[in-house]
Amino acid sequence: MICPYCEYKESKVLDSRHIDSSSIRRRRECERCKKRFTTYEKIELIPVMVIKKDGRRESFDRDKIKYGLIRSCEKLPVSVAKIDELVDSIEAEINKMFVNEIETTKIGEMVMDRLKDVDEVAYVRFASVYRQFKDLNTFVNELESILKEKKDEK
Ligand SMILES: [Zn+2]
Repeated sequence: MICPYCEYKESKVLDSRHIDSSSIRRRRECERCKKRFTTYEKIELIPVMVIKKDGRRESFDRDKIKYGLIRSCEKLPVSVAKIDELVDSIEAEINKMFVNEIETTKIGEMVMDRLKDVDEVAYVRFASVYRQFKDLNTFVNELESILKEKKDEK
C-alpha cells in the first residue's frame, strides 16, 4: 500500500476492522514519513447464480433471502439482527462452497436448517411457502417430524 503523502511502499497496519462480511478497513502508518492513512479492502467474491425450479438463472441476492425470513418471522420474537446473522451465515456457507451456481432448493434447505433452531413457527411458515405443501397430510407429516426431532434432542 503506497503512502499517499510520500509514496513510500511500506506501511504498518495499526488496526483492522471488519465493516461487513466482505470488507475490511485498515488504519496504516507510513514507515518513512510516519503519517497515518486509512485503506479499505474489499474481498472479491465469485458471483453466484441461483438456479430456479424452472431452470432459469438469476444472480444471488441476499435481500431476497432476508425478505423471505422477515415475512416468516413477522410478529414473532425474532430480531432483525438475528435475521441478518442467519443471512450472513447462509451467504458465508455458499461462498465457502466455491460454486458459481446453486439451486434455490439448496438455499431453501439452508434457511430451514437454521430457522428450525430459531423459531418453530417461523420455520413452519417458511417451509409451507417454500415446499408448497400440496395437501394437509404432507404438512402434518412435516410438523410431526420436526416435533419428533425436537423431542429426540432433549
Ligand atoms: Zn509516507
